[in-house]
Formats: sequence, structure tokens, C-alpha cells
Amino acid sequence: MRSISLRRSSFWAAPAAAALASLMAAAPARAVEPEPPKLYEELTEEQSTEADQFALNNAIATVFHEAGHMLVSEFSLPVLGKEEDAVDGLAVLLLLEAEDEDFNSAVEDWANIWFLSAGAKEDEEDNAFWDSHGLDEQRAYATVCLMVGKDKERFNDFAQSIDYPEYRAEECLGEYQSQLQSWEKVLKPHEAGKNDKTKFKITYAPTKDPQLAYFREMIKTAGVMEMVAAAFSGSYKLKDGIKLTAAECGVANAFWSADDREMTLCYEDLLNSAELDAQWYIDNPDGQEATGEDEDTVEEEDTDEASPPRQRQPILPQAGASRSG
Ligand SMILES: [Zn+2]
Repeated sequence: MRSISLRRSSFWAAPAAAALASLMAAAPARAVEPEPPKLYEELTEEQSTEADQFALNNAIATVFHEAGHMLVSEFSLPVLGKEEDAVDGLAVLLLLEAEDEDFNSAVEDWANIWFLSAGAKEDEEDNAFWDSHGLDEQRAYATVCLMVGKDKERFNDFAQSIDYPEYRAEECLGEYQSQLQSWEKVLKPHEAGKNDKTKFKITYAPTKDPQLAYFREMIKTAGVMEMVAAAFSGSYKLKDGIKLTAAECGVANAFWSADDREMTLCYEDLLNSAELDAQWYIDNPDGQEATGEDEDTVEEEDTDEASPPRQRQPILPQAGASRSG
């Protein structure tokens, strides 16, 4: 593991990087009690652990996406193009620049979840072409672009498994640098001084729903909101009092509210991620037997769609789940 820095500027403050890395190392793949998702009853122990990790990884990527909105609104940053695309990019850049395998896996799962989410949409009409976000597949491929742009070797297997076009991978090298430099440039004037620290107000609101309580426990133990605080306090001149809240919201999503200066991560978002992954295992009983038998097994699978790797070739799960972030 190496220290985190983007060129000369301190996109991540080094102490924040260290704190993050130790938080990640301490993050359990699975929390105890209250009650795991019902779908886990159909999974093996190992698959449940994977689904937990998948949900946790996506929660981490999601809070960094919301942190992008936070930076844009707190510093009134210029946004040329869709803000949702821009902050998707920021989340992925931050995670990739950490150059840590745990965060690399989080980015892979962030790509995976958009493929899964796309597959969960039953028909074309579920595609909201007018939405502020890109389509799920576009978000997936945009993530892969940054992955190969950052480190083509490291993410080669992933790119291959979705038949990522070589010409596009070549373009991504430059696009990665361009996005990185653009964020550095707009954030430069807002970098924290030596003694600048930001106090965040972190809350993991209680919930009575046993399944949501399960994910509350998970992200609280992993310190997901603490990761955000650690990444930004001492890095940028953010004023005290920003609220980082995890809560039951009635919807699988996450938000940044500029007026309230509050980021909200909904427990339902984690449940949704876990269920998408669990459903994939249920729908692809042979697909994950790759453990031990290796990739050959996976390659034989029938794929008409590009599909998430990580030993999965999803012919994607059931409808009913969609995320917007
Ligand atoms: Zn967003």
C-alpha cells in the first residue's frame, strides 16, 4: 500500500489516507445481527459474505459520489456538463488514487452494480433517457474507462470479461489524466492549510427494520461516514458542521442537500445492493463455482450482454431494484 497523493497536490491528505486504509482493513465483511436480508437464506455462507462486501463496497463508492456533490456546492465549483457524471468520476478517481486493493475492489463493485442494476430493469421503458444521471450501463462503462485509464494491467481481466473495446481503453488513458487534472485544478484553491480541520457531525440513525438494522450495523462498524470525514478533513477548507447521516429513508438512494449541508446514505441502498448481488447468485447457480475451478468455467457461460466480472457473468437479476445515487 502506498501513500495517497495526486501529483503534487493533496487530493487526499496523507493522514486521511492512512486513516482510511486502516478503516478499510478493519471493516468486517459481515456484521452480526440483527437480521440479514431474506434472500440470503438461499445463499451459501460464502455468497452471503460476498453480498455483504458488495453492499459495503457500493456504500463506500456512493458516499464518495455524494461527497462530490458536497464539494461542488460548498465551494461553488464550476460544473461543465452533467454534475452526476462529474461526481461519479470524482468518486472513482478518489478510490483509484488511493492505490489500495480494497478500494480497487470497491470500484469494481461500483461498475458491477450498474450492470446488475441495468439488468434488473425489465424493459426499455425503464431507461430514463432524460435523467440527470447517465443510464446504468453508461455509468458502468464510464467507471471501467477510469479503471483502465488508471491501471490497464490491474483491471485487464475485468475489462476483458466485458469485452471492453481496445480503442476505447486507449482513449481512457488520456481521459483519466484529464479528469484528474481538472479536479485538481478546481480544488486547488480550496486546499486546507496545515492546521485546517473540519468537524463533521456523523449519525447512524436507528431503525426498527431488522434488515435495515443489519446494514446500519455493518456501515457503523466499518465506519463508512468516518471514511468521508477522514478523507476531507484536513484536505479541503470545508466549514464545520456538515452532517454525514446514515438513515432509513423509505427509498434505496443517497443524497446531498446543499441547504441542510447534509449527506444522507439510506440503509435501503445497502439492502438493495445486497439483494442485487444475492439475486445474481440465485439466478446463476453455476456461475460462481469459479472458486477453485477458475475462470474457464465462467468463460463458457452464455452472454449476450456485457456483464460484470468478478467471477460473475450476470444474465442479470430480477426487476424491482433501481438506484440513482
Ligand atoms: Zn448524485
